[in-house]
Amino acid sequence: MIKKIDISLIVPCYNEEDAIPYLYTELVKLRTQMKGIAFEWIFVDDGSSDATKEKLASLSRTDKNVGYISFSRNFGKEAALLAGLEAARGEYVGVIDADLQDPPSLIPQMYEILKSGGWDCVATRRVSRKGEPPLRSLFARLFYRLMSKISDAHIMDGARDFRLMTRQMRDAICSMAEYNRFSKGIFSWVGFKTKWLEYENVERVAGKTKWSFWGLFLYSLEGITAFSTVPLILASVFGFVFCFASIILTTVIIIKTLVWGDPVAGYPSLMSVVLFIGGIQLFTIGILGQYLAKTYLETKKRPVYIIKERS
Ligand code: UDP
Ligand code: MG
Repeated sequence: MIKKIDISLIVPCYNEEDAIPYLYTELVKLRTQMKGIAFEWIFVDDGSSDATKEKLASLSRTDKNVGYISFSRNFGKEAALLAGLEAARGEYVGVIDADLQDPPSLIPQMYEILKSGGWDCVATRRVSRKGEPPLRSLFARLFYRLMSKISDAHIMDGARDFRLMTRQMRDAICSMAEYNRFSKGIFSWVGFKTKWLEYENVERVAGKTKWSFWGLFLYSLEGITAFSTVPLILASVFGFVFCFASIILTTVIIIKTLVWGDPVAGYPSLMSVVLFIGGIQLFTIGILGQYLAKTYLETKKRPVYIIKERS
């Protein structure tokens, strides 16, 4: 008979050869601390170019709690999370980063909360962004605020992917078959009762962050197009405002010409209006293009990830 697993932990790893030993040590401590709980640790190697896979393979040979999945190339953290969630067999399923920015010491508390009933998920948010460039923090805040205004996926400021959820919630997340996966949005969209734990930002234990400012910016656009159609309405709003303005302007010009006989003047003003409207048109067509591109990718129904090797 297959042994029942209490907690499955999913660890997405992309070039984390330096961080994995630290995380593993912490996980072992956790296992000793939470005696009687059956763990399963699923490390997902997201097409790393360093020795991540070899490290994971050797861990899985020596420790029966460790399992790994290795992708054929880098598919991104979202894909790694999905692969892990799909493979998870535990009654409770958790997600944790490889770099120890998510303190594993919170897991016993998360587990207690879920066990006591009343909650479907215990998630975490950073209340400080110590050690992060100020500009990045500012944009992150703006993004969370904008997102909660224009979409039905409310994302907490500072929300991490680090969380523990029930099997039921894991099933709901796996049932979302979209190709453009924005996990923070998905976690919120599926609903269920989520309790938030707060903690101070911790810097990564080893290795480098995989996110550049530009990368984060594109990722936030992805989040917006995946969970909100409000930008599409912008074109109609601009169109309406400009029609209204042009009717007023035309009326003014007609009256001025009829009453005072003023000549209609102004190449420069005409030019600026033409450029302005042209700009707005390109901007809104651009937005339309974004959604079209996403739709195009969704209709191809490509797999979110491809597994090359697993334990
Ligand atoms: N990650 C991944 N695939 C990627 C990028 C990142 O699996 O393409 C993993 C990475 O190994 C880490 C987690 O996602 O475990 C968070 O990445 P990182 O620490 O670089 O992000 P940050 O904490 O700076 O937001
Ligand atoms: Mg990190």
